[in-house]
Amino acid sequence: MSEACIITVAITGSVPRKKDTPAVPVTVAEQIESTLEAYEAGASLVHVHVRDEEERPSSDPEKFGAFLEGLRKHCPEMIVQFSTGGRGRGADQRGSMLHLKPDMASLATGSVNFPNMIYENPPELIDGLAAAMMKYDIKPECEIFDLAMLYAAAEMVKDGRLKGPAHVQFVFGLKNALPPRREILEFEVAQLKEVMPDATWTAAGIGRSQLELNHWALELGGHCRTGLEDNIRFDKSRLARSNAELVARVAELCEQYGRRPATAREARQILGLPATVAA
Ligand code: MG
Repeated sequence: MSEACIITVAITGSVPRKKDTPAVPVTVAEQIESTLEAYEAGASLVHVHVRDEEERPSSDPEKFGAFLEGLRKHCPEMIVQFSTGGRGRGADQRGSMLHLKPDMASLATGSVNFPNMIYENPPELIDGLAAAMMKYDIKPECEIFDLAMLYAAAEMVKDGRLKGPAHVQFVFGLKNALPPRREILEFEVAQLKEVMPDATWTAAGIGRSQLELNHWALELGGHCRTGLEDNIRFDKSRLARSNAELVARVAELCEQYGRRPATAREARQILGLPATVAA
């Protein structure tokens, strides 16, 4: 039997909506609609950022709450992951919505340069976010933008700041961070197996590396992330029409590697999340 692949859809991100990104869902209603379409296309996990009225990145717990409530109503089994990422948000706001108890939240376990800024994740902030995730029973997705972050995550599991088994995401193709080179992914996966043998992993490629990373992750036994947060083009010839279109592309690729898109129920099982969501 083929091995299930959890397809994550990163629907919005924090980069401002421009004229060339009309498909990026920005209002909560647009986000819910886009997520439901992506779910129908094969996604089982949604990674969420919200925006304020001027479409700037926001930490507004009310918006996160409205998204969670709206999605749960239509699709209670889908896994919801809130972003605690830094772009456009102060450090004190990055965990301000965790009390809403999403299934998961992202957690960068170190600092790295982004194209135009330092993505600052000092130890104190990482520990604070990890403690909040522990308190609210939220499974972190450890974001690995650079190699040291992998060992930092392993250390946190070892000393109990994070609950194991961990779930990590290897990120590639962001200017000033790791380039999309297959050897690096293979090395990271091999190291993961040494330092956290029971961990699960996924991979994300930014921009044109998105599809490449989808191929490699499927082949190497990982899970996949796609969506308009990371990449707005379908291919060289045109922009993506929707998050669902990018998800469908991964879902179709699965067979080539003896994989199939995980159902939300399977995804919950793989990640050790409760099968049913409390109302
Ligand atoms: Mg994000």
